[in-house]
Amino acid sequence: MDYEGMIIRPPSEAYSLLIQVTTGCSHNKCTFCGAYQDKKFKIKSLDIIKKDLSEARSYGYVEKVFLCDGDALIIPQSRLEEMLKLINAYLPTVKRIGTYANAKSILRKSVDELKVLKELGLKIIYLGVETGNVELC
Ligand code: SF4
Repeated sequence: MDYEGMIIRPPSEAYSLLIQVTTGCSHNKCTFCGAYQDKKFKIKSLDIIKKDLSEARSYGYVEKVFLCDGDALIIPQSRLEEMLKLINAYLPTVKRIGTYANAKSILRKSVDELKVLKELGLKIIYLGVETGNVELC
């Protein structure tokens, strides 16, 4: 698998196949977060993803996939749809695809676009919510 740098995933994705479709976080400015400070954000090519999926196919049954890194939902709609279609084509046993997201990446998608992504298997997104309010900390 084409993994660059440290790979982070939610605890509940412990048994998921991790596919790194982006490196880093497109925002990368939250003062409390050092998760991706050493990485420059980029979206990986479909050729790299096809290679990973081809390798993953040899693993046998894959039920869940998690898209790394920081906020794969920021990937432009048509490219993200293409990635999800590839996952479904290479790994037909997959029942759920997940990813991290942030407010910006969610708001850049329309409701209809999000519905299409769900239809293509993106059934869970993880959004970390923090506060800078000292009274609430
Ligand atoms: S959006 Fe998420 S991954 Fe990116 S810097 Fe902020 S907390 Fe970290």
